[in-house]
Amino acid sequence: MRLSRSLIPTIKETPAEAQIVSHRLMLRAGLIRQQSSGIYAWLPAGLRVLHNIANIVRAEQTRAGAQEILMPTIQSADLWRESGRYDAYGPEMLRIRDRHDREMLYGPTNEEMLTAIMRDSVQSYRDLPQMLYQIQWKFRDEVRPRFGVLRGREFYMKDGYSFDLDYASAVSSYRRMMLSYMRIFRDMGVRAIPMRADTGPIGGDLSHEFHILAPTGESGVFYDKAFETIDLGNDTYSYENQADLDAFFDHMTSLYAATDEKHDTVAWSNIPEADRREGRGIEIGQIFYFGTKYSEKMGFAVVGPDGAKIHPEMGSYGIGVSRLTGAIIEASHDDAGIIWPDAVAPFHAAILNLRQGDATTDALCEQAYAGLGDAALYDDRPARAGEKFADADLMGHPWQIIIGPRGAANGMVELKRRRTGERAELSLEDTLAKVRG
Ligand code: ATP
Ligand code: MG
Repeated sequence: MRLSRSLIPTIKETPAEAQIVSHRLMLRAGLIRQQSSGIYAWLPAGLRVLHNIANIVRAEQTRAGAQEILMPTIQSADLWRESGRYDAYGPEMLRIRDRHDREMLYGPTNEEMLTAIMRDSVQSYRDLPQMLYQIQWKFRDEVRPRFGVLRGREFYMKDGYSFDLDYASAVSSYRRMMLSYMRIFRDMGVRAIPMRADTGPIGGDLSHEFHILAPTGESGVFYDKAFETIDLGNDTYSYENQADLDAFFDHMTSLYAATDEKHDTVAWSNIPEADRREGRGIEIGQIFYFGTKYSEKMGFAVVGPDGAKIHPEMGSYGIGVSRLTGAIIEASHDDAGIIWPDAVAPFHAAILNLRQGDATTDALCEQAYAGLGDAALYDDRPARAGEKFADADLMGHPWQIIIGPRGAANGMVELKRRRTGERAELSLEDTLAKVRG
């Protein structure tokens, strides 16, 4: 993308309304704009991050055997009356009436809707197990929306649902999702700590939260230092193998331990003091096993091999996709701006033209841009060098390719790694090879 023709409205001043660093940086880097309390528009660079995160989720969920679907944001109140949650959910649910005075709502989650879809579509035990997910906007009328996209009212969530015939199979679905989640966060370039959790309004008796470590996190987290180097390698554990999933889960539960102020639970005594690490965490995902709660209430049953009815065992699995954009920034920034992990960065590299209008410099910049295409943001604005440096640091591209007239005369550019600040003088060819990795 050429910056001169892009809507990436960076801001120098610190926005007064933003209390924490990720919110400030998302506004300053031109990623989002607030439309009303807790409701944001995603501008081009912000949307690229959102898509990158969603695509990492997709790839690993597919590997774990989940199928993508898309359900509507608007749901009927009657559906939620079937499960008993319409009255139970409280003021966080945005309730709407259509022109025929029918009661609708903007979905805060989708257990009811998918249970109803399955009830309509699946009749035999042969059709199970099934694992389905969507990435869709949710609305929760949070009493105090704050911290930008970390606690919005409208937010983008991956929500997945499993349907199994018996407890053992449901537990293996749960463990498969736990492994998938750990790999998803690894692939985003962040470290996630799993914690045992309460199930809250979803109900059930088995749940884990996943937290990203950042000083501004809402929860206190204690973890085993082994999480800093844990092997989630695709060769170590297979999604298909029941014994692998058990081994993974046992390893995980032998390591994880946490205290979470929200839930007021303290269980970490099993971490030897020398291995114990302490931090603060932002919840980026949560998984639940809740058995037959919804399938029974909503009358969803399949016919078993002996003709008897079986209510499927269910679990649900959430990832805060829009929250992750902010959470990753909380975990990865410095005084100058965002430091995007390579996998989620809106642009892999920025090309900084330090002398717009100088024929040699322009030509080398164009050559760099042609070599990288859409992965690069070409700063071709007629702006001062200082402004370009500051904006590139603010936007947090993993690489900066800095091209000025002196180097350009010899075909040389300067390559800067945003995370380390390392700089090198290289030919354009070597630069492109390095940036392409
Ligand atoms: P929290 O405790 O932070 O309010 P939750 O436990 O109510 O979240 P879940 O029902 O577990 O949320 O939803 C799955 C994921 O969706 C969460 O782990 C979180 O990452 C994300 N999420 C939940 N609420 C919000 C929100 N208001 N804004 C942005 N993301 C959210
Ligand atoms: Mg949660």
